[in-house]
This record gives sequence, C-alpha cells and structure tokens, in this order.
Amino acid sequence: MTLLWVRRDLRCFDNPALSQAVANGCRYALYISTVNQWRIHNESPIKLDFIRRHLHQMAIDLSQYGIALLHLSATNFTEQGIFLLNFCREHQIQQVLANSEPECNERERDLSLLESGLNIEFFDCDVIAPRGRILNQSGEMFKVFTPFKKVWLKHMRECGAECIGRPVQTDYLGQTQIVDPRDDLSLSTFCLKADTQVKGAVSSHWPLADKVMEKIVPRFLNNKVVEYAAQRDFPAIKGTSGLSPYLAIGALSARTLYQQILHRYPQLIEDVNHPAFAWLNELIWRDFYKHLLFHYPRLSKRSPFQQKYENTQWPGKRADFDAWSKGETGYPLVDAAMRQLITTGWMHNRLRMVVASFLTKHLLVDWRLGEQFFMSHLIDGDFSANNGGWQWAASTGCDAQPYFRVFNPILQSQKFDQNGDFIRKYLPELADIPNKHIHFPHEYMALQGLSQHYWPPLVEHKTARLRAIAFYKGQ
Ligand code: FAD
Repeated sequence: MTLLWVRRDLRCFDNPALSQAVANGCRYALYISTVNQWRIHNESPIKLDFIRRHLHQMAIDLSQYGIALLHLSATNFTEQGIFLLNFCREHQIQQVLANSEPECNERERDLSLLESGLNIEFFDCDVIAPRGRILNQSGEMFKVFTPFKKVWLKHMRECGAECIGRPVQTDYLGQTQIVDPRDDLSLSTFCLKADTQVKGAVSSHWPLADKVMEKIVPRFLNNKVVEYAAQRDFPAIKGTSGLSPYLAIGALSARTLYQQILHRYPQLIEDVNHPAFAWLNELIWRDFYKHLLFHYPRLSKRSPFQQKYENTQWPGKRADFDAWSKGETGYPLVDAAMRQLITTGWMHNRLRMVVASFLTKHLLVDWRLGEQFFMSHLIDGDFSANNGGWQWAASTGCDAQPYFRVFNPILQSQKFDQNGDFIRKYLPELADIPNKHIHFPHEYMALQGLSQHYWPPLVEHKTARLRAIAFYKGQ
C-alpha cells in the first residue's frame, strides 16, 4: 500500500509525488491540517480559506486517478507526525510519498519521521531549478541575486527539459479502481472540521487554479507578459500576473509556468533583454529565496541574514507600528497600500517595498513585526518570499542594497501613482484632493480647512531618513 501525503502541493499537474503514487497504484491520499501550527506560523484566514477550496477540488481531481483524499485534523506538526504513523500502522501502508517542504519546522518533522523508520520518499516540486544545484565555484549558495541568476540560467540552458520534472502519468488513468472520495477508511470524510473553518476573510474572488491555468495564464503569457516590464510598477494598472496565491499553496507549478513561457518565447533563456524576461526574472527571484532558505535554515528562525543585526534593538514604537498596520501614517501611498492589504489580502509588489521600507527605515520598527503582519494578512503568504522581501527592505538581507537607500514615499507616489488613482481607490477621504496635492495633501488640506479628514504625518521624511541612516551606521 502506498499513501500520498498531500501538503503544500495542491495540484495534480506536475506533482512528482502524485506521479509516483499513481505509478504505484496508490488509492489513498491524506491531508493533515494543523490548526495550532498555522497559528504559530501566522497563516492568514484568507489563505486557509484558499487552501480549503483547493483541497475540495483536489479531492475531486484525485478521484479521477482512483485516489480518495482523506482528511485528519491535528494541532501541530508533532501530532501530525503521530497521526501519520498511526494511520500507516492501522492501514498497513508500506510507503509514503510526499513533496518536500524545506522550512525548518517542516524539515525537522520530516526528519523525525524518517528516523522513526517510516518508509517515506520526498520529491522537489516547488522550485524550477532543484535546490543544491545553483552554487558558486566554492560549492556554496550565492549571497546576492545577480550571480545566482547567471548560474541559474546556465543550468537551465544545459539541462533543458530534463530539469522540468515529470507531469502526472495520465496513462495510468482508469487502470486503478475509481474510489469515491466520500468513501473513507472510517475516518472523517474529506471536509475541514469546525475548528479549522475560516471566519471573516474569504478568497472567493480568486478563481480556482484550474480556471486560472485554462484562461488567465494563457492570456497573460500571450499578451501581457511583454508589457510586464513597463507596467509592473504601477499599482493602479493590472500589469502583473496575480499568480502568487496559487504558487504559494502549490496549486500552480512554477516549473509549468517556466515551461509555458519558454514554449512561447524560446529565445528568453538566452536573451535577458527580451521584453518578457522581466517576468521570468521574478520567477528566478522566487527560486533564489527558496534556495536561500534551504541553505540557511536559520532564516526560518527569525534570524537576520546579516548576522551583525542579530542583537539589534529596533527603537520603533508600538503606536507607530499600529498606525502603520491600520493605514494611518499620513503618507497616502503607504496608507492606501496597507488598506489594500487589509481589505483584499493582497498587495502590489511596488507597494510591499514602499510600506516595508517605511516601517523599517522611517519608523525603525523591527522588520519581523512587519513580516508577521504580512503573513497574517496575505493570501499569498510564502515564508521564503516574505522573509526575503522584508530583509531586503530592512537591509538586513543578502542583497547588494546599501542600508542608506531609504525609499521616499512621496517620490514613489508621484512616480508610480502619478494621478493618485490607486490612492483614491483605497482612501476615499482623499477622493477630492487635486492630483498635484494627492501625494502629500497636508498643506492643501490645512488651507482648505480639511485637515480633520486625514491623518497627520507620523514622521517628517527628511528627519526620518537621517535618523535611519545614523541608526544603521551605528550597528
Ligand atoms: P508577478 O509580478 O506576476 O510575478 C510572478 C511571480 O513571481 C509571483 O507570483 C511570485 O511567485 C514571484 N515573485 C514576484 N516577485 C517576487 C519577489 N520579489 N520575490 C520572490 N518571488 C517573487 N511574494 C509572495 O509570493 N509571498 C509573500 O509572502 C511575499 N511577501 C513579500 C514581502 C515583501 C516585503 C516584498 C517586498 C515582496 C514580497 N513578495 C511576496 C514578492 C512579491 O511582492 C509578490 O510575489 C508579488 O507581488 C505577487 O504578485 P504577482 O503574482 O502578480 O507577481
């Protein structure tokens, strides 16, 4: 008996563990939710709702392969391991197949399962280039992105299609007996129990991954991707793919997206100046942060990449953090961005950089508080990208960015939301402010007697910038 252990890989296409399971004639898959672990990891309600919807779909899809998806509800990873071992014992499972999860707690759990004697095999399915292959000449992981990218491209050129994993063997369809997904092994049938049900935020305006793969991905790759470089920084335009929530839960495969973009633009792998390369570049950033986490497990333990910041005491005030998190800083672009996050569970990349820089540099608040806040609100919360993004913004990360580069939130606003369209969408209180004043409306509002309608600035930009530079210099 083979068991497929479903984790952060909620798809049937390009799922190597499933591929092997189907080849082995597997009939049962198991998903074990971990409510308390999710809380500890600050998983957001909207992301859990998104997972729940994709699990339902996966149960249906797996039934096409004759596999019934069962669900158990554990509290944390330790209990998850115990439930899995008990399940295997009770049902004479001889082999467990799963896709790897390289974060620290997840790795420790998997290691202890291996040590307990469980016959479990892991596959890599969430990165394009396999972990451990993109190394410098000393055999070490790169500490900055650009040389990583060069070796990544070289590796992908050399290994061609072989790198791209194996799609599910559809030949096996119909060879095993079809099992009704509701027909379980006297366990709870597949549905999330009350304690894991999500209240409040819902993910329903994000369609399921199969629809996205069918319509949105081809539309984006056929047309929009060539305009991506020109449009990606403007939050009022829908210039990016919007695929991050699907990639974060494994409902879409980055390798499949890579394959599809290369199928359309084969020259991309050689030509970094191709208009579509900017988008591939982001997929490489995604791989970069995933590889980094694999090589530096301490990143999963709240540790800054640059160890000189290990004992830094961040002087930022709790009240400032609270104002930032509610979108009440008095900087319209920052506030509109935070309200986008709170109300939709997603935030545009340019704005993630702006608000993260504001929290860490203007307010000198510990980047880990921002990281947690993002994780607990984002539908696309992904530990490696979020950690990488926050450390990049706080200049504690592995990037070449010098600490004295402090984003000016007013200039960013003038440049990327010139007419204030994005700001007005999320800050209706500024709807009638003329374009000229929308980026920092305080003087205008005071003259018009409107000051009571918007928050005064928490800090003055120039003073905050100098304070940040002096603070970082002292570390
Ligand atoms: P596109 O621009 O269409 O890019 C395609 C894909 O590439 C994305 O879906 C994503 O998977 C990947 N990608 C894009 N930019 C990055 C990046 N800078 N780093 C790593 N991968 C990237 N991304 C997350 O998926 N989850 C997070 O929790 C997350 N937190 C972030 C926190 C901060 C402070 C910052 C600065 C960035 C963060 N990002 C995170 C990266 C980026 O903002 C999002 O991936 C992007 O906004 C998602 O929108 P999209 O799918 O339209 O991206």
